[in-house]
Amino acid sequence: MKIAIIGAGIAGLAAADELSRAGHDIVLHDKGRGAGGRMSTRRAQTPSGKCRWDHGAQYFTVRSEAFRTRLKPLMDAGAIAQWSPRLVTAETAEGRWTFAERSLEDEMFVGTPSMNALIKAMAETHKVHWSSRVMAIETDGAVKTLVLEGGGRDGPFDAVVCAIPAEQAASLLEPVSPRLASEASGVRSAPCWAAMLAFEGDVGVDWDGASVRQGPLAWVARDGSKPGRGNAETWVLHATPEWATASLDLAPQEAADLLARAFIELIGAPSPVYSAAHRWLLAKVESGVGEAFGWDANASIGAVGDWRIAPRVEAAWQSGHSLGEFLSR
Ligand code: FAD
Repeated sequence: MKIAIIGAGIAGLAAADELSRAGHDIVLHDKGRGAGGRMSTRRAQTPSGKCRWDHGAQYFTVRSEAFRTRLKPLMDAGAIAQWSPRLVTAETAEGRWTFAERSLEDEMFVGTPSMNALIKAMAETHKVHWSSRVMAIETDGAVKTLVLEGGGRDGPFDAVVCAIPAEQAASLLEPVSPRLASEASGVRSAPCWAAMLAFEGDVGVDWDGASVRQGPLAWVARDGSKPGRGNAETWVLHATPEWATASLDLAPQEAADLLARAFIELIGAPSPVYSAAHRWLLAKVESGVGEAFGWDANASIGAVGDWRIAPRVEAAWQSGHSLGEFLSR
């Protein structure tokens, strides 16, 4: 079959891997300028030099044997590595923060030298059109065509797989598969503000990541402590979903300043020499559909993504991989 996949995040690429292996002809379209999706990397010139931050997914687990097997060649090629951070939980009582060490529940992995390296490496073996936003899927009998932003079209395809966040999938799927659209529209995702900071010198903490028990911060991590980042004093701060929801309309620099101030209060850090923020409108799925993938056999349309299972990289991969396996039987 000739199959179009909308979205070249880890779910779309996992489906592409399996379907190509089975001999199908695969084309991916992704609206992003480069590889990453929610495993993106931001780069900037700062007074401390060129810096980069994983401002979306921070790390991923590798619990299943199938995922481990898929990642082995990428690990051997240096596109991913294990990250063994020192983690703490930060709690506050009577205005004082305390930091309790916590053990790693799982092995933690990251792309190297940045999170999007995994997506880049996976995308290299496929035909991916970047900066290509799909506006609609048209069907004429068994034939499907993608309508692209700017008026272009791509097709004909025998099948289409939607590998984009649920809320965005719902509107693309509605005219072609009301059942899959209705599953997608039942999913809610919480937003997240991510701040990216750079410091001139050591900020003076002896840990690399903290789960913070009181907002506005939910998670802070020394990005530079991940493998391949040269120990830069770069930090990523993630806001709580509650704070992000209440602060959706902030200008990015305003959000960066507020989160940086909370970080300075948390650890007594000096002021950063650089700060910026990114708003993820659809960051984390609050509850998934509960089935690894959706397949509408009448329409030859599929749906994959983290929203089928859980808001995690490994779940997104599992979703795409499962649909690929199903269609390759
Ligand atoms: P995405 O990565 O979102 O990929 C979808 C792709 O579709 C994107 O590349 C997008 O550009 C493209 N697209 C969307 N609409 C269109 C369109 N109309 N046309 C063409 N292309 C389109 N997971 C973890 O395991 N560990 C973590 O620590 C972690 N932290 C996170 C922190 C944040 C702030 C965020 C945002 C996510 C985090 N996650 C984490 C979740 C993880 O990033 C996701 O579960 C996973 O990356 C989802 O992959 P996906 O392929 O389903 O979707």
